[in-house]
Amino acid sequence: MAEYKGVLMYAEIGEGKLKAVSTELLGCGRKLADDLGQELYAVLVGSGVIGLAQETIAFGADRAYVVDAPLLKDYQADSYVTVMEKVVKQVMPQVLLLGQTTIGRDLAPRLAFRLGTAATTDCIELAIDLETKLMRQTKPVYGGNALAVFTCQSYPQIATVRPKAMSPLGRDDSRQGEVSTIEADLDPSAIRTKALEKVLEEVEGIKLEEAEVIVSGGRGIGGADGFKQLEELAKILKGAVGASRPPCDNGWVPDSLQIGLTGKIVAPNLYIAVAVSGASQHIAGCSGAKTIVAINKDPEANIFRQAHFGVVGDWKQVLPAFTNKVRELLAE
Ligand SMILES: Cc1cc2nc3c(=O)[nH]c(=O)nc-3n(C[C@H](O)[C@H](O)[C@H](O)COP(=O)(O)OP(=O)(O)OC[C@H]3O[C@@H](n4cnc5c(N)ncnc54)[C@H](O)[C@@H]3O)c2cc1C
Repeated sequence: MAEYKGVLMYAEIGEGKLKAVSTELLGCGRKLADDLGQELYAVLVGSGVIGLAQETIAFGADRAYVVDAPLLKDYQADSYVTVMEKVVKQVMPQVLLLGQTTIGRDLAPRLAFRLGTAATTDCIELAIDLETKLMRQTKPVYGGNALAVFTCQSYPQIATVRPKAMSPLGRDDSRQGEVSTIEADLDPSAIRTKALEKVLEEVEGIKLEEAEVIVSGGRGIGGADGFKQLEELAKILKGAVGASRPPCDNGWVPDSLQIGLTGKIVAPNLYIAVAVSGASQHIAGCSGAKTIVAINKDPEANIFRQAHFGVVGDWKQVLPAFTNKVRELLAE
């Protein structure tokens, strides 16, 4: 195992920019690499992505590897897994970090299988065990009701990290690092799928995953009209509106607003859950929020076990008063 060295992070790119999760991975990878006394590497895969390599260095990497080829324009499992397998075999890192994103969730287990190792998905904390030098990987289990810590005895230890669980370092453009290119060497006939069209999700205002404040509504809101009041509060707090599954299933709000096990996983600073019971499948999507405030008429609702602050009452009475008070305080 001595031949394995360093921490490699997969830098995810969207709309020509490093995604926020990539800078978070660079922050957490920097700490892991420092604790191991080793280097942090970034890998960028895509078409026309070399320009972003220096940015990974500004955010903490010692070296960036770039695989840049027209065939890599869109994410395809066949091409990206092949390329990443090649990069990992060349770099031989002890640790490989990816985001807990659509791409990371697809890549990590496939790579783990090809490399004969294991992947831990959805980690919210990573640390080096100073005795064994192995990475302790903490993730929520049982729908967010417990935390489990895993270690992996084989290299590379692969982990996907939940967006917003880690903090990026400040950008420092004076940081120096090396940029190396690796040839893709892809056989086009081995790529069995083709992206025919890209449909961008239309989002008015702030994206749920990026929002610092989320006002989320449950079945108790009663209909699409009720959500307008949630939108009002979200707007004042410069946040976004989310929902539990029933409002999405009932067509009161778009499916893209669903938070939970089968929806989006969010980690805002403030999560206001209005008329949400707090089922484990919902909590799985919002347990990473720094502060949870619940409004529910049932004092026994599970959401109060998760919430830091709670109001027992009918949201139709509580929310307008709450919204007015917030407006008043923010105007001061
Ligand atoms: C495999 C699987 C995956 C799932 N994935 C998800 C998921 O991703 N996300 C998700 O959310 N759910 C998911 N679910 C569904 C989940 O189990 C719950 O059914 C769902 O979260 C409940 O939504 P809710 O809290 O809005 O509704 P309910 O459980 O019906 O709760 C409504 C709440 O509103 C309160 N209320 C009613 N009227 C008022 C009022 N006037 N004022 C104040 N409070 C009021 C009630 O007291 C109650 O607590 C999944 C289920 C399964 C089986």
